[in-house]
Amino acid sequence: MVGYYKSDGDLDEATGKRPIYALTQFEPTAARRAFPSWDEPLLKSQFAITMIARDHETVLANMPSVSVKPWKPASNASIDQVLSEGYELGSLLTKSYSSGKTEGNWNITKFENTPLVSTYLVAFACGEFASLESEHHSLLTGKKIPLKIYATPNQIKQAQFGLDIKKWALPVYEEIFDIAYPLPKLDTLVAHDFDAGAMENWGLITGRTTAYLYDPEKSSLAAKKRVATVQCHELAHMWFGDIVTMKWWDNLWLNEAFATLMGELVIPDRIWPEWKVRQEFLNVHLANALSLDSQRSSHPIEVDCPDANQINQIFDSISYSKGASVLRMLSGVVGEEKFLKGVSIYLKKHVYGNAETKDLWEGISESSGLDVAKIMANWTLKIGFPVITVEEPGDGTIKVTQNRFLSTGDVKPEEDETIWYVPLEVKTINGPTEEVDHKAVLNERSTTYNLGGADTFKLNAETIGVYRVKYTPERLAKLGKDAQKFSVSDRVGLVSDATTLARAGYGKTSGSLTVALGVGETEQEFLPLAQVGGAFGKLAGVWWEQPEEVRNAISAARIKIFRPVIERLGYEDRPGDAPDVKELRELAVSTAAVAEDADVLAELKSRFQPFLENNDDSRIPPDLQRSIFSNAVRHGGEAEYNKILEVYNKPPNPSSKVDAMYALAAARDPKLLDRTFAMLSDGSVKDQDLYIFFYGLGGNRAARRRVADYFFDNYDAVSSGVE
Ligand SMILES: [Zn+2]
Repeated sequence: MVGYYKSDGDLDEATGKRPIYALTQFEPTAARRAFPSWDEPLLKSQFAITMIARDHETVLANMPSVSVKPWKPASNASIDQVLSEGYELGSLLTKSYSSGKTEGNWNITKFENTPLVSTYLVAFACGEFASLESEHHSLLTGKKIPLKIYATPNQIKQAQFGLDIKKWALPVYEEIFDIAYPLPKLDTLVAHDFDAGAMENWGLITGRTTAYLYDPEKSSLAAKKRVATVQCHELAHMWFGDIVTMKWWDNLWLNEAFATLMGELVIPDRIWPEWKVRQEFLNVHLANALSLDSQRSSHPIEVDCPDANQINQIFDSISYSKGASVLRMLSGVVGEEKFLKGVSIYLKKHVYGNAETKDLWEGISESSGLDVAKIMANWTLKIGFPVITVEEPGDGTIKVTQNRFLSTGDVKPEEDETIWYVPLEVKTINGPTEEVDHKAVLNERSTTYNLGGADTFKLNAETIGVYRVKYTPERLAKLGKDAQKFSVSDRVGLVSDATTLARAGYGKTSGSLTVALGVGETEQEFLPLAQVGGAFGKLAGVWWEQPEEVRNAISAARIKIFRPVIERLGYEDRPGDAPDVKELRELAVSTAAVAEDADVLAELKSRFQPFLENNDDSRIPPDLQRSIFSNAVRHGGEAEYNKILEVYNKPPNPSSKVDAMYALAAARDPKLLDRTFAMLSDGSVKDQDLYIFFYGLGGNRAARRRVADYFFDNYDAVSSGVE
């Protein structure tokens, strides 16, 4: 799935065929597979693309076409003819040169020259695509830019939402960056075979079906959010990455971190404020970053990458999630307006050129008046992040100390030498007055802070920082009791810190469970409850081979928290449900089902039954589909398994296919598991989807050891499939 490669779509009922088409994926180093080039980001060039294709096929490239002419393969062109002016380049491809068949009618299409662009952003594609069209009206230039989305004809009707996002988000980006979208068109191509999630080719964005297709009737809210955030992420790159490009891959993090922050937080927050993406960021990217970066095996955000073959290794959660989290922290320190103004200064200074991290820091220093390079240095150049220990000597002050945090809790002195610039963001509550001290900074090992008489306080207000906070047991208990006085973001951070620190041995598991249970029983909001659910889920994952009574106790705790939520919210959407209410319903039902609440399992089974018997899915709400499918297979037999396999083979939309994959991986019956394992190597799973099966099987108690064995036994085959 690199270079110029072939993809095939889902079976089209109308034609009985699978559509076949071709597209490119060049990042990081595959442009050289399609054409000879100095294939490095610093060496920008203009590209003139010409494509020859059958006349019923659509050809696409970064720029719009300038001419389309009929083309016939010349079988007897002389050297003089070939070298003469006006000779069509495509005629060089004579019958003897081309290995394929050349009968039928062919066209030769020339595209406009691109502006200066790096090779990894060049793209072209060819196939029988259908399209939807819209328009971007630039307030900066007054120009109208055509926006299109292309997909195979049987799926184009699910592409409307993906197209609409471009229309909604482009004006927001233009306003923020104060630079007009620079190309004369912007296409998106939906591809079935795709290695990454999506790719920001300039003017021709590409990506997976799950990244761009959304069926308003049948897709879940999670699928809708995925489409929105992926599209917004790729749109950010049209400026950040495509207009201004990193000099070398060691600065890849900046590209991805920035697009993640814009695409998953800043832009969706403006378009869909009801999605609460600012808080959701904590549960997704900050959690991801803190988890990976608390391992000894982590790496600094900025890594040397002298070997081009190693570049793919740095497209990881450290680049995306920790990178985005430290940018969010910086934005919190300087203020979002100044942060974005600094980005605009940076883009304007390096337009159509290349830049590196320090150039962005200069832009934000200019807009904020702060020494950004100094603030950020150790966050991007050093491995890890700190835990801040809070001591209370009892004189109205607190003593705060920073040390590197490791999930194993056994940091050695030589691993603990970094001093980070830590914005303490002390929130104090005195009666009705709530204040946040944005000036308090810890940039030495330890310091003392005066609480100014406040009795209730919390560090890391709004969980803006990339660090954890360890309170005294008494303070933690009080915070647990006072949790509702704090914001949703604060509560998410509190639960996350308490449970993570306990797992790392900084406190007793029982103490942190008390906090999690305490918050769980009083909490009404989705995001803090998702943290609580996640904490119990991790515990269940770690203690999966403990005696049954231990596992039952964890299940009982999960049911105790989530059963009342189901009783409150029911199984069906209600008119006027906020998005996070739907998400909470899904979380509660899926958690109670995993904890084997008998009533919940019976309800899910009854909702699957009409689908099993008559293909009637009217009792399967889209948001609960994954849970209903998974439990049908987990607790069912061959009939349920075969029904889900049918969905997998003929999915009504891409997210249903993913739901079916998780369900097939949830089987407990050894014979059914045999069938799922057989699928991994018999060609019925696309390489790009293997990770979903591994993820599902790894979470399935009945398959966990077996999937580890499978992975080790088949490492070479699995690894070569995703190279
Ligand atoms: Zn990206």
